[in-house]
Amino acid sequence: MRLLIIEDEPQLCETIAEGFRLGGYEVDTCGDGDEALLLCTTEPYDLILLDLNLPGLDGMEVLQKFRETNTNTPVLILSARSQTFDKVSGLDMGANDYLTKPFHFDELEARVRSLTRRKFVQQDVMLTCGDIAFDTKARTAAAKGESLSLTRKETGVLEYLILHQGSIISQEELMEHVWDSSVDSFSNSIRVHISSLRKKLRAALGYDPIQNKVGQGYRIGDEKA
Ligand code: CA
Repeated sequence: MRLLIIEDEPQLCETIAEGFRLGGYEVDTCGDGDEALLLCTTEPYDLILLDLNLPGLDGMEVLQKFRETNTNTPVLILSARSQTFDKVSGLDMGANDYLTKPFHFDELEARVRSLTRRKFVQQDVMLTCGDIAFDTKARTAAAKGESLSLTRKETGVLEYLILHQGSIISQEELMEHVWDSSVDSFSNSIRVHISSLRKKLRAALGYDPIQNKVGQGYRIGDEKA
C-alpha cells in the first residue's frame, strides 16, 4: 500500500509518515499544495491524506482538481478545521473521510485501513487465497496455518497479489504500489524479492502458488473467469 501524506507542518508530517512506515506502508510526503496536486495526479497512490491549510493551492482546491481526473483513489482529510461546514464541503468535494486534528494515530490508521479495504470490497481484516491467510491489521501471513517469516517487501508484494488474486500483475504495477518514490527501484530488485517470497511459500506449502507469466507479470490464485 502506498500513501501520500500532504501536510505542511514538518514534524506532524514526519510523525504520521513514520507511524505508517512502521505499519508496513510505503509513504511519500509533501508540504505544498501545488506540488501535492502534481504528485497525486502523476503517481498511483492507494490513498491520500490531505491537510487543508497549505501553502500554494489550498487543500480543498487540491481535492477539487484531483477529483476532476481521479474519482477512485480514497482521500482522507486531516484538518484542524472542525466546523461542520468544512466537513460537509470536504465530503461533498469528494473526500472519503474527514478526521479532525488533534487525533489519535490508532484511529487514523484504522480509518486508512478501512478505506483501503473498501477500495477492494474487502470486509474482513483477513484476506485468504487458497492455503494462504493474510492479516491486513497485523501485516502477517500464514501458509497452511504456519506463520511465515517475510520481509517488509515480501509482505507488501504478497498482500498486493492477494488483493488482486486471479489477475496478472505487472512488475511495473508492483513497483508503483509496493515501493515508494525514494527507492531506486530497478526491476531486478523486484525479481529478487519475488523469488525469495516464492521460495518461502514453496517451502511452507509444498508448491509455488505464484505463477509467472513471461512478459506480463505475476498472478496468485486461479485465473479470473
Ligand atoms: Ca496545515
